[in-house]
Amino acid sequence: MNPPPLASSPSAAVIGAGIAGLACARALADAGWRVRVFEKSRGPGGRSATRRSDSGSFDHGAQYFTVRDATFGRTVAAWAADAVVAPWSARVVSLEGSRATPIDAAARERQVGVPGMSALGRALSRGLDLAFECTIVRAARDPAGWRLDAACAPGPAPRGLPERWDWLVCAAPSPQSAALLAEVPSLAADVAARTMVPCWALMVDFQPHPDTGWDAAFVDDPRVAWAAREASRPGRPPGFRWVVHATSAWSRDHLEDDPAHAATRLLEAFRERSGITAPAPAVRAHRWRYARPDDALPTLPERSLLDAAARAGACGDWAGGGRIEDAWLSGRALAARVLDAANAGR
Ligand SMILES: Cc1cc2nc3c(=O)[nH]c(=O)nc-3n(C[C@H](O)[C@H](O)[C@H](O)COP(=O)(O)OP(=O)(O)OC[C@H]3O[C@@H](n4cnc5c(N)ncnc54)[C@H](O)[C@@H]3O)c2cc1C
Repeated sequence: MNPPPLASSPSAAVIGAGIAGLACARALADAGWRVRVFEKSRGPGGRSATRRSDSGSFDHGAQYFTVRDATFGRTVAAWAADAVVAPWSARVVSLEGSRATPIDAAARERQVGVPGMSALGRALSRGLDLAFECTIVRAARDPAGWRLDAACAPGPAPRGLPERWDWLVCAAPSPQSAALLAEVPSLAADVAARTMVPCWALMVDFQPHPDTGWDAAFVDDPRVAWAAREASRPGRPPGFRWVVHATSAWSRDHLEDDPAHAATRLLEAFRERSGITAPAPAVRAHRWRYARPDDALPTLPERSLLDAAARAGACGDWAGGGRIEDAWLSGRALAARVLDAANAGR
């Protein structure tokens, strides 16, 4: 446990409690900074999310993660020791027409949060100062620092916080971060250039059905990209709950559809491809407007964007890669750059 930061310590406001924002906040807090994370939803994790239902949970955003980087690997090992994550040994196939081809089991191990993907956000936020249900609508800069205008759920006003923050970290999806960085136009333009694509997610709870022979599939289809059976993941209750992700192209074409309409269309497509005919009493769809960075974008060399003179930076999976590990690395990279810049400015 770190000692509490002094009132004279540098301060940073972090907007967004996804994996990137939490990783950045953690590193700054570990360096003794006063840090607060502002999050518009009710809990941490962002797109690494879990939706509860009467019959069990749905990981309707990120499905699993893999590890390439050694530093991230050490964090994941600590999560595994705390039973926050576990390997997911699913029967994963590539589904082309009606042919299901198993995907190499010797590939990188797939890890999932336990009992849901939102466990990662909870683990990363431990010990941090977070304000949930607090949407930042504007960030303004004056000589005394950054001031945030927020629309927050009613509750006692936080005490002992600076009115002005020395540094601003935007850790929302790139279009949302770009809007918040309007006072630093060149940084905002660089963030806005990191475009993102949408994804509709279907959550369907079937009545009992015969085994399809696979737990998860990369689907070769213009509508459906991926499907996974929730109960195949460690720590989930049994059942016939599936998450189905639409392709980026289908999601873009149907972006403004009513969720009930999108759910019906995706269910039809999934039934066609999986052969599951069992009744589905509970079906709903979630629109991820900013699901992943555009594939065509190369990874930024510094995995983040920073304007040291303006004392503002931005991080997220959109800096390159588009995966949980990339979001974590981006948050850590930005924290290291902010600490260097702050030390150099002393
Ligand atoms: C459908 C889908 C499937 C995926 N599958 C995988 C996968 O299998 N494996 C994998 O590794 N990755 C996957 N990903 C990607 C993974 O989820 C992301 O890379 C990662 O979660 C991004 O983290 P982040 O912190 O950059 O952003 P986010 O998780 O988007 O966090 C940003 C946070 O900022 C908050 N916010 C935004 N604006 C404001 C505001 N004005 N004020 C306050 N808070 C704000 C948001 O509510 C959010 O919590 C998937 C993503 C989606 C959507």
